[in-house]
Amino acid sequence: MLKIFEFRITFLLILCLNLVACSDTNQPKTYPFVYTEMIMGTSFTIKITTLPAAVKIETLKNQIKNLLDKLNGDLSTYEPKSALSLFNQKLSSDWQIIPNSLLIVLVEAQRISQLSAGAFDISVGKLVNLWGFGVEPMHFSAPDDNILKKVLATLGYQHLLIDKPASKIKKQQPELYLDLSAIAKGYAVDQVALLLEVQEINDYMVEIGGEIRLKGQNISGAGWKIAIEKPTSEKRVIQKVVSISNIAMATSGDYRNFFELEGKRYSHTIDPRTGRPITHQLASVTILNNSAMTADALATAIMVLGEDEGYRLAQQQNIAALFIIKTTEGFVEKSSSAFIKFFKETS
Ligand code: ADP
Ligand code: MG
Repeated sequence: MLKIFEFRITFLLILCLNLVACSDTNQPKTYPFVYTEMIMGTSFTIKITTLPAAVKIETLKNQIKNLLDKLNGDLSTYEPKSALSLFNQKLSSDWQIIPNSLLIVLVEAQRISQLSAGAFDISVGKLVNLWGFGVEPMHFSAPDDNILKKVLATLGYQHLLIDKPASKIKKQQPELYLDLSAIAKGYAVDQVALLLEVQEINDYMVEIGGEIRLKGQNISGAGWKIAIEKPTSEKRVIQKVVSISNIAMATSGDYRNFFELEGKRYSHTIDPRTGRPITHQLASVTILNNSAMTADALATAIMVLGEDEGYRLAQQQNIAALFIIKTTEGFVEKSSSAFIKFFKETS
C-alpha cells in the first residue's frame, strides 16, 4: 500500500459510462486529462473534464505522482522508512514529532474511533497481520486463541496520545502498532483533489483504490456516473449506478479481500472488540461525505458495527450510508435517511 495504497482490491467498479460522449456534430469528446496507473500496490485514476490553459499535462502528472509518493512515505506501513513505520518500530513512550499529513489522519482516525465506540481502531494493525491480511505475504490462517487474546489485550486507540499544536504523538503502550489502511487512501484522494482545485480545475474525478471524490461535470456535462458493485466474489456485477458530484464516496465490503477456511469467510475487516474478522450479514457499506478521508474511515467503522448498530449510528450522526445486506433471497439494500436526502436534494 501506500501499500496503504496496497492492492487490497478495489471493490468499487468505477464505470466511466461517459468516457466518450458525442456532441451535436457527432464528434466524440474525450477527457483532456486521464491519468491512470498502478502505484504503491493499488491503482488510481484521475479524470479532468476541462483543463485550464495554464495547466500542462506532464507537469500535473508529475505533481500528482510526487504527492502520492510523499504520502506513501508518510503513511504507509509497507514502507519501512515511512514516518508511520518509524513510529511503529520505536518501542518507546516518548513524544515524537510527525509530518502534518500523519497528524491530520491520526486526529481524524481518533475522532471516528470515538464516534464508533471503538469499532474503528487503527491499532488493530497487529491483528490484521496475525490473521494474514497485513504487511507479510498473506498466509490465510486463523491464529491460536491464546496468542489472539494476548495481542488483543495490548491494543486500543486510547493508547495513542496526540498533541496537535505541537505536531507530536506518543504511545502509552510501547508496542502499539498503527495501520492506516482504512483511512489513508481517502486522505490521499482529498489531497489530490486539493492539488487540482488550487489550479482552478473544477470538473474532476479522483479515485484511489476504490475511494472517490467528484466535482463538477463529466465529459457529457452531467453528474459523474459511478457503479456500486454487487458484493459478490464470483464475478464483477453492478448493483447500482449513481449519478453524483461534489462529494466523496467510499465503500467497505467483505467480498474481495477475505479467505475461506472450512466453509467460513474471514474478512480483512477486524472487529477490535473481539479481535476477529467480522462475520455478519452486512456485505458492503457505501458512504457519501464531503471528505474522502471521513467517508473511507466511516465505511470501515460501519462495516464493523454491522447492519443494525451501523444503521443506528448512521441515523444518529446523519451519515449518508447505503447498506447491502446478504439475505436468503439475495442482496437487499437499505439506505440511511441522509443517503436518501442526498439524492433528493441533488436530483
Ligand atoms: P480497503 O482498504 O480494502 O479499501 P477498508 O478501507 O475497509 O478497505 O480498509 C480495510 C483495512 O483496514 C484492512 O485491510 C486493515 O488493514 C484495516 N482495518 C481492519 N479492521 C479495521 C478496523 N476495525 N479499524 C481500522 N482499520 C481496520
Ligand atoms: Mg475504509
